[in-house]
Parts: sequence; C-alpha cells; structure tokens
Amino acid sequence: MYRTHTCGELRIADIDKNVTLSGWVQRIRNLGGMTFIDIRDRYGLTQLVVDPDSDKTILSAINNLGREYVVKVKGKVTERSNKNLNIDTGEIEIVIEDLEIINSSEHPPFTIEDDTDGGDELRMKFRYLDLRRNKVRNNLELRHQMSIEIRNYLNNNNFLEVETPVLIKSTPEGARDFIVPSRVNRGNFYALPQSPQVFKQLLMVGGFDRYFQIVKCFRDEDLRADRQPEFTQVDCEMSFVDRDDILALFEDLSKHLFEKIKGVKIVDDYPRISYKDAMENYGSDKPDIRFQMTFKDLTSLVQDKGFKVFDNSEYIGGICAKGCAGYSRKELDNLRAFVKKPQVGANGLVYVKYNQDGSFKSSVDKFFSADQLKEWALEFDAQPGDLLLILAGKKDNTLRALCELRLEMGERMGLRDPKVFAPLWVVDFPLLEWDEETKRYYAMHHPFTAPKLEDRGVLDTAPEKVRADAYDFVVNGVELGGGSVRIHDSALQHKVFKALGFTKEEADNQFGFLMDAFKYGAPPHGGIAFGFDRWVSLLAGEESIRDVIAFPKNNAARDVMTDSPSAVSYDQLQELGIKLSPDSQKE
Ligand code: ASP
Repeated sequence: MYRTHTCGELRIADIDKNVTLSGWVQRIRNLGGMTFIDIRDRYGLTQLVVDPDSDKTILSAINNLGREYVVKVKGKVTERSNKNLNIDTGEIEIVIEDLEIINSSEHPPFTIEDDTDGGDELRMKFRYLDLRRNKVRNNLELRHQMSIEIRNYLNNNNFLEVETPVLIKSTPEGARDFIVPSRVNRGNFYALPQSPQVFKQLLMVGGFDRYFQIVKCFRDEDLRADRQPEFTQVDCEMSFVDRDDILALFEDLSKHLFEKIKGVKIVDDYPRISYKDAMENYGSDKPDIRFQMTFKDLTSLVQDKGFKVFDNSEYIGGICAKGCAGYSRKELDNLRAFVKKPQVGANGLVYVKYNQDGSFKSSVDKFFSADQLKEWALEFDAQPGDLLLILAGKKDNTLRALCELRLEMGERMGLRDPKVFAPLWVVDFPLLEWDEETKRYYAMHHPFTAPKLEDRGVLDTAPEKVRADAYDFVVNGVELGGGSVRIHDSALQHKVFKALGFTKEEADNQFGFLMDAFKYGAPPHGGIAFGFDRWVSLLAGEESIRDVIAFPKNNAARDVMTDSPSAVSYDQLQELGIKLSPDSQKE
C-alpha cells in the first residue's frame, strides 16, 4: 500500500496514528542534527522528521534524497513543537520509521515552490513540473469546479451536451481556419472548427431545443497578447427563444457561477448598453464599468474659440478624474507621455485643474478664460478638486485613446479592484463592418446573425445602418462571451449573404447544407458562446489565459514542451500528395 493518507490530510486529532504517506520531496533541511523533509502531493505538504539515532538504513536513504524524489514513508504522527499555522498540516509532523525511495529525480531546472526562480519559457518547457506548483494546480482545480458548475446548471435547465465534429468543412467566423489534409481524399482538406456554430444551429433544426458543449475551438489568428490558437468555449444554443430569453438564462448562469465560485451574490439585473453608447461613453465595446468616468463630447462647446488644435479636430472629448486636481507637474507630464504612446496614439493632452478654491489652472489658459473653463467643468458635473483630461483628433482614434486614458486613470485611482465584478451586456452591434482594404462588408459577428427586425427594411439600401440582434457579455473590461439570435429562414439568409458580397454560387458552395436545412422547418433559435479560458482566468485573478490552461502554447503559438509545430517526414507528405515550396523549407 502506497498511502493511508494524503500529504494534506493529517491534523492534531491524528496524533499517535501510524501512517504511510507517498509524495515528492519538496525540501530537506538539517537543523541541530535533526533532518526535516517536506513531502508534497496534490493535496498538500507534510513535514517528516528524522532523528540522528534512527536506523542506519533510514539515515543512508535520507542522505541519498534530493528534491523531487518520489518517496514512501511510514511513521507516527506527532505534535510539532514549532507549529506552522500557515499550512493545514502545520501542527503535526511524522517521525519516520521507514523510508523507501520509489523514484529518483534529476535536479529540477527550476524550484518547484510558490516563489519559483523559473522564467516563463523554462516553466513551459517543463510544464509537467510547473503543474506541481500550487498556483497552477489551484487554477486548474478552479477550472474543473467551474466546468462542473456550468454542466450542473445547464443540465438542470434541460440542456443536452452534444459533441460536434472536429474535422469539418471550412465555415468562416472571422478568423483563418486551420486546415487538415485528407489522405483518403487526396487534394482535399478538412478545417478545424473555429466554433461549432453551424452544427449547433443544425442541432436546433434537428429538434434538440437546448444544446451546450464545453469544446475546443481553433483559430489561426495573428498573434496578439493572450490569444491561444486552440481555446475552449462554453458553446450554447436554444430554440423558440428571443434575445431577452437568452440573456435572462445566461445572466442567471453567470450569477450562479459568481456565487458558487467566488461567493459573490449579484442581485441586480446586469446593465444593457448599446454598442453605440458603449463607444461614445467608454470608447470600447467591452467597457470596464467598475467605475464611471464616462466621456463627455466637448466638440461644439470648445471649437471656434481661436485654439487651432481644437478647431482642426473632428472630435474633442474628455474625462473627469475626481479629486485629482492636486496632480503635480510631473504626474501630468507622465500622463502626457502615456497618451502619446503608439498604443494609445493621441497627439497631446489638455488638462484643466478645478482647484479646491474654485479657481482654474489649465494647459490652455492662453486660449480660454476662467469662465469658459467653468462651462467645461459644468459639462462634466465637476466639483472643486477635480481634474479634466481632454483629447482631440479624429473621432475614432480619439475615442480609442480616451478609452486607454480612462483605464489608466482608473488604475492610478485604484478603481479597478480585481475583487469587484461589474458585468454587463453590450447589445445592438452593427450587423456589418466595412473593410477599406478589400472594399467589402464583413459580418461583425458571423454571417448567421439576424438583423434586428426594425432595421431589415434598409438591408438592401443602407446596410451599414442595420443593427444585429447580437450581444456580448462583458465583465471588468473583458469580453467573456458573445452570441446572437440567428437567421432561420433561407430568404433572409440569402439576403445577408448578398450584403456580404457572396454570389449565389459561393453561398451555395460554402453553406448549401445550412440553406438546405432551413428548407425543412428551422425553428427560431439563438445562442451564445463563452470564452471559458478567459472566464476562468478572470475568476482566478490571473492576467493571462495561459495560467489556466494545463498545456498552453507560447506567444509564438508554439508548444515548447513537445516542440510543435514541427516538420513531418517526406513519406507523410507524399501520402497526402503535398509538396512543400522551396521557400517554406528555407523558413
Ligand atoms: N460561435 C460564436 C463565436 O464563437 C458564438 C455564437 O454566436 O454563439 O463567437
């Protein structure tokens, strides 16, 4: 028998028990002739102690021990004189009576403790060692609990978990597909699903009514921070529902998770903000509403007063930072440097201090009188002690830059507490997005999203004005999910394909199977997909989704542990009928 207890189990009530434990050696210390060994398993850490008069075989086994050796020990539970109340087993220790080395270990490439000396790349290469650390294990335990809670909740609400295929026909969702060559059908390719989108819709046609799946999705996207080429979605679809039915159910699911996982009970309905308002007030379709500091449009108020920078700008807007009028010159210089960073992209920053004594001090005192500045302050509802921060330029760019500035100020003012959760729905996205480069419209969500009923009349004449019955679920500035009501009749679907620039042949070729299905009585349906990795990382308080994935890829989409992607043999390519071009071989 390897163990009677785990390494996290024994307490003061177990004193005098004879126990057997197995685990990994975390640390060995010699103190005044006594040897202390910490052994670890998934459940915790237990201290072993050996006194110098122990049996010779035990002493020699201990002399041979090193970090990460796998051992089995027998001994008696005793009360520690020097208790460590930071760990659950900290009141006891095991006096070793027998020790067997089950497996030795090379010296690990980094220290497997909470404070590790291993850099990211090294820990990824030896991920199986990193997995022994508390932090990674805790995150994966949280992930497990969340998936169980989600399954329970959806099961209790009549959802069926159905697996959909991984080798599929390419069906675009806005990113590039990963493709898989077929050996049996040489010259043909499958794609890996960017999501099970069309399959879940076909399940609705098939009468399944409520579907979900915790499922891997694959997108060959350009590498941006915190993206993984394969990631997990909680993918859901429902029949005979309208938008509000869908939002109500999934709002309740998210409340269930906040409560079960974080003990946070949210009673109020989540705010619903239109895409347009989100952009105008926060400069983002995923606003962090843990704090307000919304934008005010000053364009008409401040133009034509002789200040060229404003007169030459399409949009002038700003935020009011409560209680920040005391900012020093250095702090303001700092903010000016911040807004000029390429990722923020503003040309400069105008500030107005509304001093405690009611006076004003601004970077545009030469151009605007105190009375005029007071009018600005009124626009912001500012109080003495507040600081106005104003940007000007092209509207889109300025809104985006203000968004960064608002988040930065939120950070500096301590308004982005990770323990506070501020969920909301962003609704009424535009149906289409114009792309200047290819001179055509793209679906902002995906081509199966229903246009809002009241906007359908202008689909042919003013497609840019059409709003979609689409929604995103956002928490603390992170987009955790998105979905839509779907088109369920083929005439409307054809119309949308047309607006997207598909010819009838292209549409039939790519989506003929879906169009065919719609001929046989498709129910009204809609759904949502949550980014599971992001949701876990938010509740784990992690910055990166890599920290909540057992075997993630690095920032260059590589698995550095298995060294993948990698070349395949000439024979494998031959069987597939694939010849590499000379440049790809050079690369
Ligand atoms: N399939 C969509 C996505 O992955 C989500 C949905 O519309 O349900 O973004």
